[in-house]
Amino acid sequence: MKPKKIYKIKEIFLTKQGEGYHTGRPSVFLRFSGCNLWSGLEKDRAKAICDWCDTDFVGTDGENGGNYYINEILDIISNLWPSDNNLEPFLVCTGGEPLLQLDQNFVDEIHKIGFKISIETNGTKLPPSAIDWICVSPKNNTTTNLKTGDELKFVYPQKDFEPIQFESYNFNHFFIQPMDNNDYEKNKKLSEIFVEKNPKWKLSLQTHKILGFP
Ligand code: SF4
Repeated sequence: MKPKKIYKIKEIFLTKQGEGYHTGRPSVFLRFSGCNLWSGLEKDRAKAICDWCDTDFVGTDGENGGNYYINEILDIISNLWPSDNNLEPFLVCTGGEPLLQLDQNFVDEIHKIGFKISIETNGTKLPPSAIDWICVSPKNNTTTNLKTGDELKFVYPQKDFEPIQFESYNFNHFFIQPMDNNDYEKNKKLSEIFVEKNPKWKLSLQTHKILGFP
């Protein structure tokens, strides 16, 4: 018999989506450990593709983190979702890069417990089928293989890398999100100017940081 797959999970928690189209929507966030564009270790930051990354996706030491079989993940997610609301249960799979681990069985099992599943990916890997919402956030010096989805979220600005090239991709929503680094104030202004001039693009702010979502 094939051994059951173990998923390495940094953290799982109940919150609200902070970015993009679903901003404010109650969601269970599941952060996969690991990424293909940075080790996540500070000693490697200078040579990372995303040397500005603001996410801790290393290891399994976050809230509800661990090395899990799928049935264990289903239990955690189900227990986190409040029983006293009539909203559609919504799972946001992020990372790191979720598509290093997320497979068809994962998607199918999440659906069986009544959750919709969304992913936030850097677009370098192709997803399994039947994911309900796909958000791609392209990164410079990578190949964006995933050219279709629901929303494309461009962290802005990125050196020698322009959003306009993605307008022909098959997405319903296009977002510009100011890069949260030492130049954040400048990046917000540049983002504001960009969306003013390019009406296909809307502004996405990291609302969880502004309003203090968990
Ligand atoms: S793809 Fe996302 S999680 Fe991975 S290093 Fe880049 S910004 Fe960080």
